[in-house]
Amino acid sequence: MHSKLPHVGTTIFTVMSALAATHKAINLSQGFPDFDCHEHLKELVSAAMRAGHNQYAPMPGIMPLREAIAQKIQALYGRDIHPDTEITITPGGTYAIFTAIATCIRPGDEVIIFEPAYDSYVPNVLVNGGTPVLVPLTFPDYRINWELVRSKITPRTRMILLNTPHNPTGSILTAADLEELERLVAAHQLLVLSDEVYEHLVFDGEPHLSLLRYPALFRHSFVTFSFGKVFHNTGWKMGYCVAPAHLMQEYRKVHQYLCFSVNTPMQYGLAKFLETPEHYLSLAAFYQEKRDYFLELMAGTRFTPLPCKGSYFQVMDYSRISDESDKDFAIRITKAFGVASIPVSAFYQQGQDDHVVRCCFAKKRETLEQAAERLRKV
Ligand code: GLN
Repeated sequence: MHSKLPHVGTTIFTVMSALAATHKAINLSQGFPDFDCHEHLKELVSAAMRAGHNQYAPMPGIMPLREAIAQKIQALYGRDIHPDTEITITPGGTYAIFTAIATCIRPGDEVIIFEPAYDSYVPNVLVNGGTPVLVPLTFPDYRINWELVRSKITPRTRMILLNTPHNPTGSILTAADLEELERLVAAHQLLVLSDEVYEHLVFDGEPHLSLLRYPALFRHSFVTFSFGKVFHNTGWKMGYCVAPAHLMQEYRKVHQYLCFSVNTPMQYGLAKFLETPEHYLSLAAFYQEKRDYFLELMAGTRFTPLPCKGSYFQVMDYSRISDESDKDFAIRITKAFGVASIPVSAFYQQGQDDHVVRCCFAKKRETLEQAAERLRKV
């Protein structure tokens, strides 16, 4: 068969997690916690199963969950979102992103993607016949150069894809970025896809600048979220998409034939769990503590951590240690020292290599301590 994605191999997350398993390394590569999700959340899901919520959920998701999400959005971002027409529950954030792209992108449409980029974005655009237009973030602070963005706009530009907090770098968008975006979207009638799966993991008292806060932008936007990333259950594959009714109507046309509907008992469990705002309000402090502890531990190594303002990823410069390519370095450290990370060049189509690796700090204290002990020897 003629491949639709001839240049795409196996995702780096699978590659590095498999290498970690083979070499019994501490796995700081793929982003997932090594601790369990809340006991109460598990109880709520099993209670839903016992109550008989075991058949298909409604196509857009159960109403109690969509209502709970709308309440959270109102409380955090001051926006009234209609649960019946503007929220759809999805099997995970990655699916929510794919579906938004499949909904809008036609052959020949250009999509602005900032690099380093989460590794599904470019293949998602390509498989739908679109053309990724890659714009590098500045290095080493990973900010958007809006002048450069403007120079990439053509009559075929259809969508701009944003991610805040940013994976893999941990940078966040500022109010000035959102103002630039607002002007650009209005001037060129663009659609926006905002990947906000780490919305609750923003540190140092900074606000999460969700697109949902900006009414003029929201009219053109799909905003995607993940329960797995924030409630420590990545294996559940639960997320959602928020979009204005006219866009969500089209989104649901695609969604209904991709998976139709999502795991019913988990939706009931999550709806109840969201009734306690502390469950998400506590996350920033919880992960900031982990980031700070990881940084303290890394101070005893020859790695140079770059600023991390959000997400559960810490990018580290290793140029004081080696001038190997980041892929060679990450593989060698996994095999020889037993700590797996992600080479950041994997998030660039042309493999730009700034000698940095990404480590996930969503780990127990003892895991971070053991990893640091090994990394001190590097
Ligand atoms: N989002 C996770 C990460 O960045 C990985 C998800 C996946 O493996 N598909 O590590």
